[in-house]
Amino acid sequence: MNIEIVTIGDELLLGFTIDTNAAHLARELAALGIRVVQRATVGDDANHIATAVRDALQRTGAVITTGGLGPTADDRSKPAVAEIFGRAMVLDAEILSNLEARWLKRFGHELPASNRQQALVPEGATILQNRHGSAPGIWLEDEQHRFVTMLPGVPREMRGMLADTLMPLLRARAGSNGPVIRSRTIRTVNIAESAVADRLGELARGVLGLPLAYLPGSDGVDLRLTSASLPANEADKILADAAALIHEKVGRYVYGEGDDDLAALMLAECVKRHATIAVAESCTGGLLGSRLTAIPGSSATFLGGIIAYSNDVKVRELNVAVTDIAEHGAVSEAVARAMASAARQRFQSTIGIGITGIAGPDGGTPEKPVGTVWVAIDVAGDVHAVRAVLPGDRNEIRYRGAQLALDRVRRAFTNDVESVAWMTRA
Ligand code: AMP
Ligand code: MG
Repeated sequence: MNIEIVTIGDELLLGFTIDTNAAHLARELAALGIRVVQRATVGDDANHIATAVRDALQRTGAVITTGGLGPTADDRSKPAVAEIFGRAMVLDAEILSNLEARWLKRFGHELPASNRQQALVPEGATILQNRHGSAPGIWLEDEQHRFVTMLPGVPREMRGMLADTLMPLLRARAGSNGPVIRSRTIRTVNIAESAVADRLGELARGVLGLPLAYLPGSDGVDLRLTSASLPANEADKILADAAALIHEKVGRYVYGEGDDDLAALMLAECVKRHATIAVAESCTGGLLGSRLTAIPGSSATFLGGIIAYSNDVKVRELNVAVTDIAEHGAVSEAVARAMASAARQRFQSTIGIGITGIAGPDGGTPEKPVGTVWVAIDVAGDVHAVRAVLPGDRNEIRYRGAQLALDRVRRAFTNDVESVAWMTRA
């Protein structure tokens, strides 16, 4: 089944509010096998609302709107849609008495006149109860079973109503044996998008007939497989087979699936191995420690760290040799190695991690451009270091530096430390 979404509100057009409703709707509907084929956003203008909804209705015959159901003058959605269906607006006695009761209970006084219009609904509409706020939703349908259903704009209310009332209605419409939209996301780290595609070869354009999306972000490149034409059980099977094929080609760079967080995975792995971690961070300024301590239960593994930002602190607190800094610079293999080992020894941990780099925007040179990061990892005295030139702005470079360090822990655990880091230039 296909559907269109129209989100309504001047604030969405102005960019003050990000349209999270449309994204949430699309994700939820996919699980029912309902495909969002087009999306529109319009301001609080009755004509624009009517045009967008009428067009969507003519094209697809199924439309969800959000926003503009409130009590204020800028909420014009209901009459605009009623007109498309040629219906008058009528006062719904039940909504009115619910509103009156709600106001008395919550605010201790009578319903203001402006709120009375929330009880006006298009004639013949089905009312969708709102247990999460005051504006009820609407379902309007014509003789040809084309429908428009209207939800409130407040995301919390919209989500609540969708789950309580609309999803069951839509599920019944879509049927249960029809095709569903299911995705599976494979998370890679420390490899560039183009390198992933190279390794995938023929699979790069699709796996077992499923389209493959490349989603690069600060965590790495996510690979998302989507099945849109099969019933649920067949979709799950083909997604599993396709994921296995991807693992065959790029498994070395894969750290997880779905929402997996590399920091959480590495902590769990450390717990299994009875390993502990200490860090010495320069350019990441504590970001790695922050990511690790964000995970509940991290105290079993993460012991502590030193933010050694200045050279003085690197020398004084981490025994970095003044001569190494003079000869190789603060962003160098020698310094990263010394930092990792000093962290491990000072904190008596199994693993010590050292990170030093140039986050920019200033400080780059031709030999060491902005984004150059050295990460060293000392596992019980066995030290490996890697250099990467990470892309992005200052924040992204710092985040990717921490992610690279976590990947080195993963590599140490899989005995794969000899590989080079991504974007490494000779
Ligand atoms: P409304 O129902 O149009 O009065 O919207 C009420 C509140 O919900 C406002 O604060 C909007 O910014 C917010 N809102 C409306 N539409 C959306 C949307 N599509 N995504 C996220 N927030 C929204
Ligand atoms: Mg609004």
